[in-house]
Amino acid sequence: MTHKAVMFSLLKFKNFGQFMMIWAVLSIVPCLYFYKQFQEVTGSIYSMVQSEHGIKLEFSKQNLLKSTKGMLDTFHILSDSNILQRAINSPNKTNIEVLEDFWRALLYSQNSLESISLLNLQGLQLINLYMDDANVHITPQNQLININKKEIFKKIQALPIHSSTILISLPQEANKTSSVHLVAPLQSGGQKRGYLFADINVDQIYDNLIKQSNLSTPEVIDSHGNYLISNIHTAVLNTNSDQNDQIGYQNLKTLSPSVWDNIKQADSGSFKTQLGWYSFVRVPLHILSPHLEDIYLLDSIGHGVIEQKENERYASILTQGGTIIALMGGLAVFFLTWNRKHNHQTIESKLALTVMEGMSALVITDKYNRIIKVNSQFSRLSGYQLHDVKGQHPSMFASGLHTKEFYKEMWNHIQQQGFWEGEVTNKRKDGKLLTELLRIQTIVDDHGDIRYYVASFVDITERKVLENKLREQSERDSLTHIPNRRKFDQVFRYHCQHIKRYPDQYKACFAICDIDHFKVINDTKGHAYGDHVIKSVAHTIKTAVRETDFIARIGGEEFAVILPHTDLKEAQEVLDRVRVMISNKHHHKITISIGFSELTSHPEDSYQRADMALYESKECGRNRVSCFSSKHSEPQA
Ligand code: GH3
Ligand code: MG
Ligand code: MG
Repeated sequence: MTHKAVMFSLLKFKNFGQFMMIWAVLSIVPCLYFYKQFQEVTGSIYSMVQSEHGIKLEFSKQNLLKSTKGMLDTFHILSDSNILQRAINSPNKTNIEVLEDFWRALLYSQNSLESISLLNLQGLQLINLYMDDANVHITPQNQLININKKEIFKKIQALPIHSSTILISLPQEANKTSSVHLVAPLQSGGQKRGYLFADINVDQIYDNLIKQSNLSTPEVIDSHGNYLISNIHTAVLNTNSDQNDQIGYQNLKTLSPSVWDNIKQADSGSFKTQLGWYSFVRVPLHILSPHLEDIYLLDSIGHGVIEQKENERYASILTQGGTIIALMGGLAVFFLTWNRKHNHQTIESKLALTVMEGMSALVITDKYNRIIKVNSQFSRLSGYQLHDVKGQHPSMFASGLHTKEFYKEMWNHIQQQGFWEGEVTNKRKDGKLLTELLRIQTIVDDHGDIRYYVASFVDITERKVLENKLREQSERDSLTHIPNRRKFDQVFRYHCQHIKRYPDQYKACFAICDIDHFKVINDTKGHAYGDHVIKSVAHTIKTAVRETDFIARIGGEEFAVILPHTDLKEAQEVLDRVRVMISNKHHHKITISIGFSELTSHPEDSYQRADMALYESKECGRNRVSCFSSKHSEPQA
């Protein structure tokens, strides 16, 4: 692994660490919240179950009380009926038949009664009507039975007059439910004369109870713990099948003492044992009749159901929690990214500040090129403070030394390339010139549109002065102080180019002047005198020509003259004047020969023609001016 790769993975690890930390911090509160929710699941489910079952049992209790009271009232009225009294007092055929008809009608209308019979004081059935397949039958005389052997008859005998009540006989066999009877002692003339005895259709009452409450079936248990009604398949104890088979005649007290203890302690409530969750209510039948004992309705919900509900809640909390934690992860990523970007921006602004106060002068303009910011270096160099220039266009600094074209090209370059670099001379606040090495840079937004222009420059005014001085020195002849050969070459080429560019508008002539027999002067009068002559000739030429003409020393005693805006004829006159002036000045002892031509777009040709014309002047005796026009094949003297 290279050093760079190690650094990169360390950086990644650092980012991951930061992410995990932020995630953890952001997730603490949601985690605590969901942990609390988790803790409360069992409790909340229990209280939900408790209230659900409490309401259900209370509903069943009220229904049971109501229907029981209804039955007792009906039975009481029945026992006091005149038809029954007549049948007891005069049990003739007619009275018996009337009673049978009355009871038949009653059995058809009361679906809660299974049978009804009249017993004499010894327990023998005198009349018995019963329901079978939705029909009422009368038991024939020879099939009437005596119930005095049954356990319940003792209880019946013990009942006082005017006490219609309910008696329950517990099942003697497995899978048999208890039978419930309505009993009322009958009297006549203050004497007990027999008993009215009816079997109650418990299933029917129980079904009604459930139908009305629209809930599952509670178990019914008497005040001694005996199961009166129990649905074997949903037996409250959820015990094994062997025991389930027994429940029909089992006792809760022996089956589950802990459940029984809980039930005995209150009128209603809920509790939890190892087997499950239970709700119960005591049905106070004693308020209906002093001979009635209270019963209990017991309902249960197994662990499985609770667990299922719990699991549903856990799953829901986990889903919610997972979503929130994942969202927190997203938030952590967002925060980390934002933080890094912010840091980055802070560094960038620090950088920008440092750059702003650097060596360069800075002017920042908006997209409309209006000044919005300058730095202190700018103020120092230009003399302008920000308030002097804010909102202004940078053209306010223009010195007037640059052409419109110069600025046009500059802005074209900026628009196309995004920057421009070059030298510009601007004006300071005090009017002095400031030569700048300037760079203008655009700053674009994400869409590529220019938002800012940043102009940075350094002051090169002094450098420029020095440079100009040096350049001038290098372009000037030290003896005569007129331009030298190097400068001549530049100017000469410039004029040729100008002609090339404006062939119809611009014309110029070019002449080469050479001192005649200079060697002799040197030889006879000395080199110093020779120098003096050179200087004198240079000066004379300069004063003889126009100010706009250009004169340079291009050789030992050779001079070049460029005559702008001059045709051959005019040149001839000027150069002749020059020749005469020199000759006269030096008493005809020093003369010059001149060759000239018009300038063309070809510098070499132009030079050569003037040179050939000079040669011609020399050849023809010197101290003369010759022309070699491009229009003539031969040079002319
Ligand atoms: P011509 O009429 O044919 O031009 O004859 P000339 O003697 O002038 O011949 P040429 O042009 O060949 O000679 C130029 C001489 O000028 C040669 C050289 O010694 C002299 N010379 C060149 N430069 C200087 C200078 O700076 N000072 C002096 N004193 N003499 C120079
Ligand atoms: Mg010469
Ligand atoms: Mg000469």
